[in-house]
Amino acid sequence: MNEDCCYSFETKLLHNNSKFDLTTGAVSVPIQHASTFHQSSFDTYGKYDYGRSLNPTREALEEQLAHLEGGTRGFAFASGMAAISTAFLLLSKGDHVVMTEDVYGGTYRMVTEVLSRFGIEYTFVDMTDLDAVTKAVQANTKVFYVETPSNPTLKVTDIKAISLIAKKHGAYTFVDNTFLTPALQRPLQLGADVVLHSATKFLSGHSDVVAGVAVVRDEELANRLAFLQNSFGAVLGVQDCWLVMRGLKTLSVRLQQSVKTATKLAHFFRQHDSVKNVYYPGLKEHPQYELQKKQALNAGAVLSFELESEELTKKFVENVRIPVFAVSLGAVESILSYPAKMSHGAMPKAEREKRGISNSLLRLSVGLEHADDLMNDFTTALTYAYSPIK
Ligand SMILES: *Cc1c(COP(=O)(O)O)cnc(C)c1O
Repeated sequence: MNEDCCYSFETKLLHNNSKFDLTTGAVSVPIQHASTFHQSSFDTYGKYDYGRSLNPTREALEEQLAHLEGGTRGFAFASGMAAISTAFLLLSKGDHVVMTEDVYGGTYRMVTEVLSRFGIEYTFVDMTDLDAVTKAVQANTKVFYVETPSNPTLKVTDIKAISLIAKKHGAYTFVDNTFLTPALQRPLQLGADVVLHSATKFLSGHSDVVAGVAVVRDEELANRLAFLQNSFGAVLGVQDCWLVMRGLKTLSVRLQQSVKTATKLAHFFRQHDSVKNVYYPGLKEHPQYELQKKQALNAGAVLSFELESEELTKKFVENVRIPVFAVSLGAVESILSYPAKMSHGAMPKAEREKRGISNSLLRLSVGLEHADDLMNDFTTALTYAYSPIK
């Protein structure tokens, strides 16, 4: 089973139990389309009985994910929101969640508009402020929900510290690890109980699949989540499982390259006169620079920056050539997003602005283009934006 126990992360991405198919030798996981499985005994059934409950292709992906995050069980869902929502089903009526205030817009919507109807309470806090976190705890607090670095202002939360607070109160820590992936950050090793992902982003990495992931370490929690995955039924289809596995193979090299370019671009934007603010935890002046260095391998491939006004931001976006201007992140091509109208469109304006998500803020997910080409592109677009000639 664990031939790969001692390999480094990069090697594990390729050399795992699904390296080749045991029956045929095929060096690619077979896409098993069957929705049901023949049972050869009258009353004792095999491990696979029905596709929603378990499917060999999904199982291969789930096993890989568990392994990469350092957990015991992984679960693949139809989207990041399906994974997050299913994990929230661990809660019951009357339970309370302490949430990071700059949480992903879809998670914000799920908690405030859906879970609230089922009697689940919440408090949003700035999770970089541990006193505020402690003050938000109630007798019925069952989950601490962390997203780090956060979206889109790249604030860094101390996973270990939050996990300790959670343990003291008998609550779980959920960490959305979408921005860094296990290649750069392993929340379970820092004390978290559930790691969540939008696998739509870096894990698959090619803007060609919508998928979600949950990984846990504790066996009992794994059984509860397996039960919920099967009950709620938002499982990932087999074609998409295969696409995520295909993407995973290059996760490390993709991130290495993108992080290198992101670092260059963060410095480029910082020294540019027309850029008001740069948010990137790899910059020394970032308030949680040291914490980021301690709990993750590096600062990742996503950064945000703010221009002087909405008008200039609009002109800048209209003149940028290389990145696609789109929702999403974590792909081989650079993606420029406008959080106020895209990822955080679901958040009321006042709430957005409280979180620093102004109408002049742009988020950049750095892909695999050459850094010089991106810098030239941004230099030109900034020049156009700030030029008085329309
Ligand atoms: C995209 C995203 C999600 C939601 O995932 P989907 O796959 O779009 O459902 C959740 N968290 C973060 C941080 C994300 O970027």
